[in-house]
Parts: sequence; C-alpha cells; structure tokens
Amino acid sequence: MLNASLQELASALADRRISSVELTRSALDRIAAENPRLNAFVHVDEEGALAAAAAADARLAAGEAGPLTGIPLAHKDVFCTAGMPTTCASKMLANFVSPYDAHVVAQLKKAGTVLVGKTNMDEFAMGSSNESSHFGATRNPWDLARVPGGSSGGSAAAVAAGMVPVATGTDTGGSVRQPASFCGVTGIKPTYGVVSRYGMIAYASSLDQGGVLGRSAADCAPVLSAMAGFDPRDSTSLERAAEDFGRDLDKPIDGLRIGLPREYFGAGMDDDVRAAVDAALDTYRKLGATTVDIELPNSKLAIPAYYVIAPAEASSNLSRYDGVRYGHRAADYADLADMYCKSRAEGFGSEVKRRILVGTYVLSHGYYDAYYLQAQKLRRLIAEDFRRAFERCDVIAGPTAPTTAFELGSKCDDPVQMYLGDIYTVAINLAGLPAVSLPAGFGNGGLPVGLQLVGDYFAEARLLNTAHRFQQATEWHKARPAGAGDDEGSPT
Ligand code: GLN
Repeated sequence: MLNASLQELASALADRRISSVELTRSALDRIAAENPRLNAFVHVDEEGALAAAAAADARLAAGEAGPLTGIPLAHKDVFCTAGMPTTCASKMLANFVSPYDAHVVAQLKKAGTVLVGKTNMDEFAMGSSNESSHFGATRNPWDLARVPGGSSGGSAAAVAAGMVPVATGTDTGGSVRQPASFCGVTGIKPTYGVVSRYGMIAYASSLDQGGVLGRSAADCAPVLSAMAGFDPRDSTSLERAAEDFGRDLDKPIDGLRIGLPREYFGAGMDDDVRAAVDAALDTYRKLGATTVDIELPNSKLAIPAYYVIAPAEASSNLSRYDGVRYGHRAADYADLADMYCKSRAEGFGSEVKRRILVGTYVLSHGYYDAYYLQAQKLRRLIAEDFRRAFERCDVIAGPTAPTTAFELGSKCDDPVQMYLGDIYTVAINLAGLPAVSLPAGFGNGGLPVGLQLVGDYFAEARLLNTAHRFQQATEWHKARPAGAGDDEGSPT
C-alpha cells in the first residue's frame, strides 16, 4: 500500500478501504524494519503519528478531508517541529526542542498529514552526501555502500525505500534535486519566496527554499500546494495567491520548447548519465516537444560564486549558536569568550566549521570586495543568462548531477571534489528559479539517474506538468530498490 500513489491512497482513505491509522502503522513498521540499515530517520514519533492518524480518520469519517488528510509524511530535520527534536543533524542542536512549528510544518498539519518523524541530513544542510550528519551517514537504498546524496538525503532515502510516500526537503544549492536524483525519486524546489522559510533553520538565507520529495510529480504537486503560500513572518515570502501546482499535470506538451544548455552537455558528465539523459530527451521529442540549443555562458562561474555566497551567509546565520540561549554549551570554560569558543568548537562538525571560516574570511575587511562583492556580481550575470535563455525556450533540461550516487567516504577528504558535483544545481538557486529532478533511467550498477528540468520564475505548474507527462510515458519512477516492496529492482 505504501507504494501506491498519493491519489490512490487518498481515494482508499476516502472510501474507508484503509484507515490512516493502518497506513501510518505500515509506515512505522517499514521504518522500524529499514532504518537500522539506512539511517534515514533521526527521530520517529510513533505515539504522535498514531494520534494524528486517529484525528485524520475522524476528519475522514466526518467528510471534512482534503487530498492529504491521513497521509503519512516525514520532515527534514531542518524544519522546526513543536514538541519534537529539531537537530539539523548537528551536535549543536542535539537536545533542541522547538517551541513552535515551521510554517511548512503548520501548513501540512493543517492539511491533515500525519508526521511520522524527522529525516537525517547533512549538518545544517551543508553537504552533498549526507555524510556530515552528526548522527552518521544515511545509506542509499539502491546500494548500501553509496551515499543517498545531500543534504536532504534522509528524505530521499525514506521515499525511495517506501518508508513514507512523501517527505519535505530544503534546497540551497541542490539539496532536494541531487538526492532525488541519487535515490531515484522526484523532487521539486520552487521559485525562491514561494515557500516560507519561517522555522526552517537558516543555512544561506538568500538561497534556501523548501521543497518536496515524492515518487512522482503527481505526488509532489499537492504537497507543494499545501506548504506554499504567503507568510508575513518571512520577509522574503512572496505575496501571491494560493496555487494548485497540479492544475496542469495532464496538459499535452506538444510544442513545448526544451532548451539544452551547451555548457551542461560538455565534458564532466559521466557516460552513463549522458546516455540516460539523451534517452529521456528522445522521449520528450516523441511526446511532441522540440529541443533547442541554448547557452548559459556563465555556468562555470556558478560553483565559485555559490561557494562564496553560501558560506558568507552561513557564517552570519550560524553566529547565533553561541551556547547562551540554546544549543550545546561546553561543560568547562574559563570565561564568557572561552565558553563561546568551546561550545562552538564542540558543537559544530568539520564541514560546518570550514564554511564558517570561509564565510568569515570572504566577508572580512580587505577581502569583501574581492570575493563577496564579486560573487554577487556573478550572481547577477548568471540570472541574466537564464533570463535570456527563457526567451528561446519554455523549460531547460539537463542532468541533475554529473554522476550517479558515489561511494560512502570517497569524497570526504576532498571538499572541492564534493563541491564540483553541484555544478548543475547551484546556478538555479543563485537565480532563484524553480527546478525539478525526475528519475530518467539507470546508469552503471543499476544506479538511478536524474533529469533536471528548470523553469522560469513561478513555472512550478508547468515543470510538474512536463515531469508528469514523462512519467505517464515511462516506468522509471516506479522502480523500487530491493526491499522496498512492489516492483523491486531496476528494470535495466
Ligand atoms: N551541496 C550544496 C552545499 O553543500 C547544497 C546544499 C543544499 O542545497 N542545502 O552547500
């Protein structure tokens, strides 16, 4: 049952063929069975989930249900959840229990979803492999020796392994899309400002955006519709009317112009990734879309610009963890300054410290103009590239990542190598655009390959439509890793 689509689950719940308590029970059982080997969840709230499921069943019985009422889901542990730990996978927040719910959490609660627990992630969402988690790495359900991607790797693994049908994530430079790609699930990151950041622990505020991971575009759509919307508590939340992002799912896509950036199809992409992406583009042509060659000339500047701006903002955002108001405090210290130093030294992991150091450096007097200001100029140029490209096409397609999931430990000692894997995703955040990653086949070793579709501002409905039409024509998104129930194994 957990492998059914959200629509199937909603109709089974509405017809009382299954109760939310039963559905939630099966999610909890799957988590209990799979989590010891995957480490996708850092916290499971069995009692709270069953109580929420019972409340959802009452709503269903009273005929007050919406499309998500009674659906079990998980939140990335970056979202504040009242009465439940919110750790950001950091020792710094290991004992933190938020007194309030993030906007996203509150919205999805209102929609009647059942929160089963919090998913593992890279510490403070900094990473591309989930290996920087204080609670240990999550494993990729397709191959336990490989990473699930990051930073929303716990959410991606949980969905891929059939623990929950959908989960939330956040995407600062690819953290929804790249783990979706590595785990063979669908992930959407909306336009910056569409989802409120209130209660979403900040990494790089001008880039952070909440998103959804699910098995299909059709499953992501209602979740995104429920969690989006104006929130006055986030000053960058956009005042736009509520939207049904699934409204165009079934629209034909003939005549759709798909832009293929020259820079995304050059050297750097593995051959097995290229083969799957090329085959996916052929499917689109068969569906009536046309492809046009485009240029994004500043693409190569995206990684350097991102890895200046993101750490700069992170160093400022993370200054709040000083051991005074909340979070880890060192047990022994000589004076106030020593307490700050020791608490931060003990509470943060090495990748977070590296970002704080880089960020502080690029913002410091004498270097600010050379690095930070320069990176902001590049950011403008990158956004301009996309603006020009969207004069010639409706969506942009390419690989989500240059490789499939890599082996655990293989990039830990080489941060630059790890950062380079974000080549196709970070520019989208710098520009604030929406993008989707969807399963496009399998590469060497039966590992999933993701296709990235990028839309113009507020083109979420079109992106989900474009992804959904592909998923109606292909079976890639239905393949499950061994142990995850129906349709096991890759169809290659
Ligand atoms: N891998 C990127 C980074 O480490 C993106 C992370 C994210 O999107 N949260 O910053």
